[in-house]
This record gives sequence, structure tokens and C-alpha cells, in this order.
Amino acid sequence: MARYTDAVCKLCRREGQKLFLKGQRCYTDKCALSRRAYAPGQHGQGRKKSSEYGMQLRAKQATRRYYGVLESQFRHYYEMATNMAGKAGDNLLILLESRLDNVIYRLGWANSRAEARQLVVHGHFTVNGAKVDIPSYLVKSGMTIAIKESSRSSDKIKSILEANAFRPVPKWLEAGAEQQAQVIAVPAREDIDLDVDETLIVELYSK
Ligand code: SF4
Repeated sequence: MARYTDAVCKLCRREGQKLFLKGQRCYTDKCALSRRAYAPGQHGQGRKKSSEYGMQLRAKQATRRYYGVLESQFRHYYEMATNMAGKAGDNLLILLESRLDNVIYRLGWANSRAEARQLVVHGHFTVNGAKVDIPSYLVKSGMTIAIKESSRSSDKIKSILEANAFRPVPKWLEAGAEQQAQVIAVPAREDIDLDVDETLIVELYSK
């Protein structure tokens, strides 16, 4: 039976950029954004002039949707980011990038962040040898992330690893043998390939 596959793609079309929400499909010419590079809806192709607020809102929504977090969680990350040393915008992205579900996706151990979240909740991964099933868990430099030994023989995990073998791993992570990886540094802004101006998010929330 045909599956309705367009809903999350509308989010990419709304934000005007790939948010990589549909796994392997995002890397093919079936990507809805490649086919219809305009916003969804009746007026999606109309010329739009964004207000300052509109641009700030779009930056926030694109980032929130990219990482798949709820508004309240996102606001919480912003509060944490403003209490850290350095630029609040950079800190916000670094915190989001350090979530365990994102790390699992970045390592190619899940096809999408949504799938990574589900796999984490199902207890397929360990951090420093202990099972962690909290997707929002923040990894830190020096930690070892691994696929749980009993999960390594799972057909699902094997097929995910095979499908994502081509996907490059960011340089702040080091994938090793035995389905283990090391967090070798805190991610830097330039390591995060999200095309968004994070200062707009700070402006939006600091009003
Ligand atoms: Fe859909 Fe993925 Fe393309 Fe976004 S990047 S439009 S989720 S296929």
C-alpha cells in the first residue's frame, strides 16, 4: 500500500533548505525539495518579502525542525546557551549538535534523526560502556559511543550501517572499529552544516 511521504518534506520546502528528515530519500533525486523548490500551499510560489521577525522565526523553525526538538525544549537550550561562555548562537547549535540522537545520526548509525531518537529510546547504544536511552543526552569530548553488543547482529542495524557507509562523519567524531566511536572534540560552528543565521534566533528570543 502506498505510504503518504510528503508531510515532513513540506517542512523543508517551507524552510527552503534540506532538513534531512526522511533518511535515504533525502540523498536521492526523489527529494521533494529538488522537485518543488518553493514553499508548500496555494501561495507557495508567490514572491514574498520577509519582515525582520519573519526571518528570525524562519531561522528558529529551521533549526528546531532540523534537530527535531519541541519548542519548549528548544527554548530550554537557548536558556542554557545564554548561560555559557561565548556566543549564545554558537552555543545553541553546539548543544543541539551534542545531543545523543544527533550523534547517532552523524555517525551513520541511523538514517535520520527521528530514527536515531527511536533507536536510542529502544536502548541500542551505550556511552562509556553504559546503556543510555535518553535522546537528549549531551555527549562530551572524550566519551565513547557504541552500538550495544546485542544490537550489532540486528538486521535493522546492519542494513542502516550498510546504507550509510558513504556518509561522511564530522571531524569532531571518530568512528572506530567494533562499532564504536569517540567524541574527540566539542563541535565547532563550522562543523555544523545547517545553513542558518543563528544570530537571528538570539534576536528573536532576546526581545
Ligand atoms: Fe524530504 Fe528529505 Fe528532501 Fe527534506 S531533504 S524534502 S525530508 S526528501
